[in-house]
Amino acid sequence: MIRPEAVLLGMLAACGVVGAVWLTVRIARPSAALTSSLWRIALLALWLMPAATCLNDSLHVSPLTVPVDVPVMMRAGPTAPTMPPMAPSLSPVARLEQGAPVLPWRWAPIRARGALLWLWGAGVALGAAGLLRDVMKARRLVRAGVLAASAGLTDSLATLSRAVGLKVSPQPVQSDRTAAPAVFGLRRPTLLLPAGFVLDCGASEAVIVHELAHLRRRDLVTQLAARVTLATLWWHPLAWLVSRELGASAEEACDDWAVAV
Ligand SMILES: [Zn+2]
Repeated sequence: MIRPEAVLLGMLAACGVVGAVWLTVRIARPSAALTSSLWRIALLALWLMPAATCLNDSLHVSPLTVPVDVPVMMRAGPTAPTMPPMAPSLSPVARLEQGAPVLPWRWAPIRARGALLWLWGAGVALGAAGLLRDVMKARRLVRAGVLAASAGLTDSLATLSRAVGLKVSPQPVQSDRTAAPAVFGLRRPTLLLPAGFVLDCGASEAVIVHELAHLRRRDLVTQLAARVTLATLWWHPLAWLVSRELGASAEEACDDWAVAV
């Protein structure tokens, strides 16, 4: 059984990591790529810190986990019969007065705990529905497009993909339902292009390199992880901060790729 106190401790530790990243980025002003990596660490911390404290809590059972009103016989094992008779069960207030370790969560009425869980579950369901809607929308957009079979475009795309460090070029698809190039897909990436898009050596090349850099940096995976985090920790302000900073730093890092290539 995971104690809420262990989760809370992990959350506080994660807040410390997020705060450290925020200060580092604000004070040291690292490159966009490094900033993006730091925010990825912050995103991981939001999951790993609570997981670590819960694991530690389950491995080292704290005396606080033994309820005060558990019969002494049950706690003492085989020698229990020789122990004095158990104390009568006390109310939380009485326990506090006696200095016994009473945990706030255990004080909470069962109904309040249930209501909180329902509220959290409703937020998770909403977040998951939003994520699913966006994924389906992207799939429909790609499916409605037309495979761009121009040899010139395919060759230019292959050259730029190699320059960025991609082993496989994304599949180019043109659509009149998009105004700007964008990449989709984790397993088989697709580069969605506006209808009539011409890939030349000017600004359009920089735009494509920017999109290819998103694939090279695996930003789509990070984006998905951030969306899942937001769906789960929708109530956590720092989850929103990390998600926003992740997106902004990824865009800056891809702009740097577009300038450099
Ligand atoms: Zn971008």
